[in-house]
This record gives sequence, structure tokens and C-alpha cells, in this order.
Amino acid sequence: MLERRLIEVDGVVQGVGFRPYVHRLAAARGLRGFVRNEPAGVLIDIEGDSARVSDFCQSLPAGLPPLASIATLRIRQADPRDYRGFEIATSGLRDALQPPASIPSDAATCDACLAELFDPRNRRYRHPFITCTECGPRLTIVQAAPYDRERTTMAQFPLCAACRREYADPVDRRFHAEAIACPDCGPELIAYTSAGTPAGSRDAALTSALAALRAGGIVAIKALGGYHLACDASAASAVRRLRARKRREAKPFAVMVADLESAARLGVRSKPAQEALESRARPIVLVPRRAGAMIADTIAPGQDTVGVMLPATPLHHLLLTGFGGPLVMTSGNRSDEPVVIDDDAARGSLSGIADLFLTHDRAIATRCDDSVVRVVDGAPRLVRRARGFAPQGVALPVRASQPVLAAGGHLKNTACIASGTQAFLSPHVGDLDTLESRTAWRDAVDKLGQISGVTPSLVAHDLHPEYASTLLAERLCEERGIERRVAVQHHHAHIAAVVAEHQAVGPVIGVAFDGTGIGSDGAIWGGEFLVADGARFKRHGHLAYVSLPGGDAAARKPWRAAAAYANAAGLSALNVPGEVDPREAAVVSQLMKQNATSPPTSSAGRLFDAVASLLGICHTSRYEGDAAMRLEAAADPRVDHGYDVALRANGPWTADVSDIIRGVVRDRQRGRGVAEIAGAFHLTLAALIVSGCDRIREETSLTTVALGGGVFVNALLLSLAESRLSARGFRVLVPRLVPCNDGGLSLGQAYVGICALEEGLCA
Ligand code: ZN
Ligand code: ZN
Ligand code: FE
Repeated sequence: MLERRLIEVDGVVQGVGFRPYVHRLAAARGLRGFVRNEPAGVLIDIEGDSARVSDFCQSLPAGLPPLASIATLRIRQADPRDYRGFEIATSGLRDALQPPASIPSDAATCDACLAELFDPRNRRYRHPFITCTECGPRLTIVQAAPYDRERTTMAQFPLCAACRREYADPVDRRFHAEAIACPDCGPELIAYTSAGTPAGSRDAALTSALAALRAGGIVAIKALGGYHLACDASAASAVRRLRARKRREAKPFAVMVADLESAARLGVRSKPAQEALESRARPIVLVPRRAGAMIADTIAPGQDTVGVMLPATPLHHLLLTGFGGPLVMTSGNRSDEPVVIDDDAARGSLSGIADLFLTHDRAIATRCDDSVVRVVDGAPRLVRRARGFAPQGVALPVRASQPVLAAGGHLKNTACIASGTQAFLSPHVGDLDTLESRTAWRDAVDKLGQISGVTPSLVAHDLHPEYASTLLAERLCEERGIERRVAVQHHHAHIAAVVAEHQAVGPVIGVAFDGTGIGSDGAIWGGEFLVADGARFKRHGHLAYVSLPGGDAAARKPWRAAAAYANAAGLSALNVPGEVDPREAAVVSQLMKQNATSPPTSSAGRLFDAVASLLGICHTSRYEGDAAMRLEAAADPRVDHGYDVALRANGPWTADVSDIIRGVVRDRQRGRGVAEIAGAFHLTLAALIVSGCDRIREETSLTTVALGGGVFVNALLLSLAESRLSARGFRVLVPRLVPCNDGGLSLGQAYVGICALEEGLCA
């Protein structure tokens, strides 16, 4: 009996070899009809013998290509049409009312392509743009959805006859692979010097780049989502030169190595770290650095970890294999600016940094930095979410009745669009201090709109009126005539992000340990015990307020935090480290006496700063999180005692941080070691988190705890807090897919925005 069915599939089904897979499945069963990309996913129109059609439907989800995943599958009966054969049809027209399609993220070169890359008999031998249905660029070349070659930056490279044959052949592994090319028809590698002099094309360009690297030079390399800056990681002088030219004093550089064996020599030992390193996303993985690793000390000064990654593109494979040792591979930008994607901009802004440019003529459509992962207790956790992950949707526990755009925070910014039950986060945009980065934010938001095909009807942003992201959100609303906005408290958003990621239902206890965020009372929050429930939250407790002389200006000056916390604890007068300008010290001392320009803060980040300075580990931070990371690196994890901290009831109860400060200073005076005190400090915070949660459980009988905020990048604290809470019978939710730091804020804001719509809070 003849039967016809229409099958609508959504999930990650575009640009991942899904249509070729469907074609093979249909052909094997002698079925007719077509498959085509739709704005919302893929439509299959299938017709034939009814038993075979049923078999087709059952087999469909079973043997998916590795990058594909199905979120929903809807099947309808239809009247037979008497199709002739089965074909891959051109994409349907987009319909703005449809929910968005998932654009796939970029995937590392697969084993089959890698084998061809180094096979002299293959026609793509050493072709730096080799790719197939299972690997290669995706988001970074996509200009608009649905994902088809004509809407990517590969459109300008018409396929040659040989490539077209592969593209059209259902049994070829490049059947309908949108990004394929070969030496005859694809993009071409070129090199030129910082003065603009040509330095070879194709393999000769690679040879020039390798020669420059061997000579200790700095090479700007056009990678997937932006330029990289590379130099010999074992040459201290090259690394020093890169730091000086990039004006990046101490922030760690990532290192790229050819393979797992080389990664092991740097310190990648654990199975989970190896798996993260080899995953298709190919992120930078932060690992404990092995003593004697053959890389310059200046790569991550003062840190006990190093960021390692494996090659993600054929070009990087060729470079690493040719070079034979580890290479520094860092974002191609000047400090604090977004990574450069445009060739002219690269020539402009990187010519003072790079000696040589290794580039090509395929444009980068979407800026996408390298992602960063840290493995904690065997589980990979994202610290920076970009290449390889964006724009994969995060499934939400609620359905957005209307699309919501979230602007993110001021630092480590990402933006997010939620539509239906999916949230799409932009790749990491970074800090919004410069005009360039604010333009990058706007690009990222426009891109989210293009690839999702939806227009937001509500914009969620941080409560802080002066965050660049808040101002940008306001301007966007004016320009686009979006009338509804919702301001979301920073730490509520941190917790909401964890709730959304874990699809938690109902109210949860939220512990947000963070640097800085404005609170509902105007104070600087950051050590918060909340109960979060949809669009609402209640602050049950927090770290006791301490007046911070200079407020935010003190964020990168741990010695100021130390002075303020010691003062609040009733300890002796200002203890100014030698490196501090006496005039600045005098100003701070004056501010403290008068209690002027000293907003109260409950920030856990500032408490870390204070302790780091009191222990002599760090008085002035060279980048955000510097002091806290060095305090973590210094801590002895075997310490089994901490300091007692009193919880005082007073509206929201407060945890008396002066108890901690007095304990640290007392131990220091008794001559206890820095490692022991740092260890005791971590243990104290973990115990404090547990007692705070115990108290809220008594008050509310809630048993689920969400941990969020940038302080939880700290693996030791996270591990201690998680294990102790679990041991006390709490269900603990910890961010994994989305960073716990401000990179995850936009997801939380979007979630709160959706709930606000749901609860009728924004008319
Ligand atoms: Zn491949
Ligand atoms: Zn070709
Ligand atoms: Fe934050």
C-alpha cells in the first residue's frame, strides 16, 4: 500500500550531514520524496510502500551522524503525490513566525579528513581547508539561516567538477557538505610581512610562517573565528616580545600542541581533561602545569595551571606538525579589544604586534574566540563559551511565549536570544570597555537575530544603569521600537542561569559568590544567599557589608580590600605594601577615616582579594581574578580546619567576614604558612556556604542549591562546597554548559525575562 508522510525535525540537523543521511536511508528502502532545510529545522516528505515508510521513521533517530541531534520529531500523514525519486531539495523560504533553527557550531577536523590531509596521494594533500559533513567551519562562515553554502562565506568559491561530484554523490562522505573545497576551487593561503610585502602563497606561505616562528617571531594567523597570534612557546624571549607588543603584562597565554602525547608533557594527565581536549569543540583546557614542562615561565606567571589546546583546523594541524613544538596561540587583538576578524582591521591593529601574517581569502562571518574549559572533579566546565559551543541551543525548562533578548553583563559579555524552549547564546564578546567591543556586542546581537530569525519583544538586562550592556540594550529598544524591558539583579541572573541550564523546576536556594554586581539596595553585592523562584528572588542572607574605599576602583587593588576588611575587623591601621604609591595610600586612609566614597560591599571576590593581600600573595591585580587565582594556587587542599564564622540575624542574616580576617591575620602572626592559611580560608568559605544553606533549608524546606557567580571558577572552592552540600543531603546544581562567571549572565537574564512574561510582570 502506498503511503506518504511529512516529517518535521528540529534540533541540530542543519550542516551536520543530516540531509545526506536521510537520503541514504530513503534510497536504501526505495522510498521517494524529498528532504530540505527549513528555517526551523528539516522537512522530510517521504512516500512509498507503507511498511517501508514505517521502517524509515523508526530508523531515522537511530543512526544519526555524529554532530546531529534531534530535539523534536513530528510526523503527519498526507495524500500520496506520486513522486519520481528522492532528492535533496533547495531550502524553503524562511518564515519569521517559526522558531529558530539550530545553526551548528564549528567542529574540529575529523580523523578521515586528517588522514587525507597528510596523504600525498590524496587530491587534498596539505589543503588547509579540507572538511566534510562531519567537520569544519559552521557558525563562523554562516551569514544567514538556513545553513546552505549560498548563505556562507564559501559562496564565493564555486565548486570545481571534482568537488561537485562528491557533493552530489549520495554515497560520498562529502555529499551535501556545504563547506567543501579543494586546491582547485577553494580559498588560498597567503603570507605577507607586517610591512605588507608578500611572503608566499599556499605551501610557501606556510613555510614562511614556520621560518618566522622558528626565528622567534610573532605570526598573526587567520583562524576560524578570528585571528590568532602565535609564537614559539618554549622561547622566553619570543613570549616576552609578544607580551610587550600586545601590552598584556601577565594574563596567561594558551598553548597549542600537536597531539595528546605532547599535551601530556605539559601536564594533561587525567582522562576527562584528555577527552575535553580531543572533543569536537577543541577548547582550551586549563590543567595543572607539569613541573619542568618545556614552555616559558612567562606563559602563565604565578599560576599553577596552563591552558592547552589541540589543533582545531587543518591549517593549525599543518602548522603544529611543521613546527614540531608547542606554540603560544592567543587571541589576535590588542589587550581589552575583541578578537580581530577582518583582514583590513588585522593589518591595521596587528601590524605593530605581528612580524608576519598567515591569512587567506575566506571571510569570517561570525567572531568566535576560543572556548575555555576547566575540569573540576572529573567534569568539564565552561569558563568561556565560544568556538565549538556557540550557538548550540540550551534547552529551557519553560517556553518563551515571545522571543526574549538578554544583553548580558558589562564584563565577559555574551548576549542571548530565547525563543520557544531554546536559548541561543552568542559567542563570548568580552569586556565592554572599548568602542570596538561595544560594536562587537551589536554585531553579536544582530547575528543572533539573523540566525534565529526572530525579533525580540522583550529585552532583559542588568540592574546596573551604567553597564555598557544596559546602555546598549536601551538604545536597541529605542531603535527597534521594543517597548518592554526588564532589569534583572546581577546575582539573581547568575542563579537563574544555573536553574535554566539544569531545567530545574520551582524555587531553589541560590548561592552567588561573585566579584561585583549592583544590589537591589544600591550596595555592591557578591556574597549572596538567595531563594530564586522564576522572575522573583528573595535575599535570605549575605556576607556582611564592608565599606570599600573607592568602590569599584578598588576591584583591581587587593591591598585596598585588605585595608578595608582589616579596618572593619578592628585590626591595626593601614598596612601599606611597599609597591603602593604613598599618595594613593594617603587618599585611601583619608577615605576610610571619613567613610566617604566607600560603598558597602558583600562581595566574595573582594574577600578573596583581601586575604590574598594579607597573605602577601598579591597586592595589585594584573587582570580580573588574578589575586583569587593565585590564592587558590597557593592553597594546600589537605588542610582540615577553618575559621568559625558567626551568622547574625538582621533582616537578611549576615555572615561576619571579620571573623575570617581576624583568623587569617592571627595565623599569619603565629607564623603559620601561607599554603595552610589559604587552604583554611577555602575550607571556611565552603563551610559557610553549607551553614547558610542549612539555615535556608530550615526556613523554607528547600533542598536544591544552585551555585553561581565568577568565584566558582575556583576549582578548590567549588569542589569543597559541592561535596559538603551533597553530604548534607542537598541536591547541588553547578554550571557546566554555560560559564558560572558573567559569561553566563545573559542566559539567566533571558530566563528571568521569560518568567516575567509568564507571570504577567511586564505588561
Ligand atoms: Zn571531516
Ligand atoms: Zn574543488
Ligand atoms: Fe557576576
